[in-house]
Amino acid sequence: MDRPLSEAFDYLWDEKILGAMPRVGLLVEVPFGRTNLPGLVIEVNAYSHLNYSKLKKVLQVAPLGPLDSRLIELGYFASQYYIHGLGETIVSAIPKWWRTTSNWHKLPDQLKLETKGSAELKAKEKSLSLEELNEDQRRAIQILNDHKQGTFNTFLLNGVTGSGKTAVYLRFIDSLLKQDPAAQVLIMLPEINLTPQLQRRIQEHFPREALAVLHSGLTERQRGIAWYRALTGVARIVLGTRLSIMTPLPKLAAIVVDEENDNSFKQQEGLTYSARDLAVWRAKNECLPIVLVSATPSSQTWHAVKEGRYQEIQLANRVGGFQMPNVELVAPDKSSRSITMSPMMIRALEQNIHTGRQSLILINRRGMAPVISCSSCDWLSECDHCSSYMVMHRQLGHFKAPMLCCHHCGLVKAIPQGCPRCGDVDLQPLGRGTQKVEDQLQTLFPQAAVLRVDADTARTSKKTEALFEEIHSGAAQIIVGTQMLAKGHDYQNISLVCVLDADARLYSNDYTAPEHLFAQLVQVAGRAGRFSGEPTQILIETRYPDDPVYQYLKTFDVAGFMEHLMSIRQEAGLPPFSYQALVHAEAKQKKEVLTWLNHAKQYLDKTAHLQTGITIFDPVPKLIARLGGWERSQLLIESRHRVPLQALLNELEHYLRQQSVGRISKAGKVRWSIERDPLFV
Ligand code: ADP
Ligand code: ZN
Ligand code: ZN
Repeated sequence: MDRPLSEAFDYLWDEKILGAMPRVGLLVEVPFGRTNLPGLVIEVNAYSHLNYSKLKKVLQVAPLGPLDSRLIELGYFASQYYIHGLGETIVSAIPKWWRTTSNWHKLPDQLKLETKGSAELKAKEKSLSLEELNEDQRRAIQILNDHKQGTFNTFLLNGVTGSGKTAVYLRFIDSLLKQDPAAQVLIMLPEINLTPQLQRRIQEHFPREALAVLHSGLTERQRGIAWYRALTGVARIVLGTRLSIMTPLPKLAAIVVDEENDNSFKQQEGLTYSARDLAVWRAKNECLPIVLVSATPSSQTWHAVKEGRYQEIQLANRVGGFQMPNVELVAPDKSSRSITMSPMMIRALEQNIHTGRQSLILINRRGMAPVISCSSCDWLSECDHCSSYMVMHRQLGHFKAPMLCCHHCGLVKAIPQGCPRCGDVDLQPLGRGTQKVEDQLQTLFPQAAVLRVDADTARTSKKTEALFEEIHSGAAQIIVGTQMLAKGHDYQNISLVCVLDADARLYSNDYTAPEHLFAQLVQVAGRAGRFSGEPTQILIETRYPDDPVYQYLKTFDVAGFMEHLMSIRQEAGLPPFSYQALVHAEAKQKKEVLTWLNHAKQYLDKTAHLQTGITIFDPVPKLIARLGGWERSQLLIESRHRVPLQALLNELEHYLRQQSVGRISKAGKVRWSIERDPLFV
């Protein structure tokens, strides 16, 4: 059941009441403590070593067949690898609608189960015929089609945006579905809300196939239905975000992970799994081909290709002979205190408006200014509950006046009349965010339609869709926004992209920052539309034009950059040349967290000293050391090899659990968790 417990529980099975034989994989309801809970049958035994009179009976069985044993194997693996209770791994992967046992009497045939695609969806996206595809694409399809069914292989389909990767994998799926009338395919995407275009394209490509879409934006019932359609084999294509990796697919024939390097495949809380890594494991366990798709492969995938574990398929050029934009590095403007865009960017914008093209301005910070400060003393707008600054917003939700908001804990406050420390009324916003840039552009170009796209303007998926519609229709001339602008959308009329404050993401404590920045910039550059003959441009504001991230970007030399990155990682012994795990801990008092982590470290030092190649680091406060009133620290474990790390973590977990209730320490009330393969350290 969905509880942070590592063990399973014994129950009696009364065939007369339940009307079925017990089988592994059945979803059941059982009494647990003072309540009843849904649970999954993971073992069937004729005997229990517990006292029979104490055993309780299974209450009812869900009107589902048993879940596939291979899915349960995936659950076992995820639970072990990510150091998480088996029940809370497997059971919580079942949609809530099905875990709500009162729904079980609603007969499944009440659920909409159309087996066909929707007929009105006429194929707007005409499937390109084989002759229409270019030589690279035809070769790619050939390689995929030549793959022997029933065997495992990981492919990396690699090529810049617009090189025709999607067209290739859709065609591969075509042939799989044709070969076997029952076959199912799982396509995983980073964030479906931001990529309705791709969803539509896939639907249009397969107008006659039943499709199920799974993401966190659905209602519980919708998710329950989509999951059921996958489980029963009705849905032949499942399109989902990271959570879809645990979908039961009895006839799974292949998995595609689009934008495999995207961070959103990593779950950051609870079961901190990587859906991409689990997808590769699942494909291996079920003897299937898996296609990882990316313009900028993750370092891990790249390493696997170099080691010969994955097979790379390259699409070398953009289709139709279109070029990637020209990259220019621009020094930030230092002339005035009020930070504006550099004159060169402004000139380029002016010209672009003149020619009737759209421009994209990217700044990865929403709000007006990241902090306000007092001109007399050094007071800064720090959050009461977090070790971070409150961001000034011109307006926020229903507040019409400027407000301060903490982006970490959500605290909202009025801007003080005067400095809380010295009383001076001269409080100044420092730096800039999307709102400030929007204001400045509107002042500079009063005639132009400026549109802002960030988490504040795109609060619901409806609003988001409306914003993107304004871009696609051409109504917006200048679009200011955060990275969400760069995901998935194919824009037709954008010929200038300006990136502000890129350096902020280059110099951070996190060793993965350059990798992520490079990927983001390539992704952004791919948004510049495709115009025959006309050059498009991407201007990047930086103080460090010589940095390898920018130098390799100039020629879109992904391989060059990755090799550079690999040599640095190898020298430093960082992933993918080693494996990492973090022990997270938080409590109300800083002292308690550190005492607890030091205690864990002592145990680790003692236990790990027999192993070679394992390094246990000292506990350190997290980047945001206080969040919502909780003091947070972490301890890093690094290992040359995977196996000894797994063994060590299992022992650590066992040890920590003995002194905890769930994952809260009995002494000091420290909340803890263990994370494998962290994205950020
Ligand atoms: P990627 O996934 O690499 O970004 P897509 O497969 O989305 O590339 O292709 C970009 C656009 O070009 C799509 O609209 C697609 O329909 C179209 N396209 C793909 N291959 C070809 C081709 N060989 N000739 C013409 N258009 C193509
Ligand atoms: Zn002051
Ligand atoms: Zn806060």
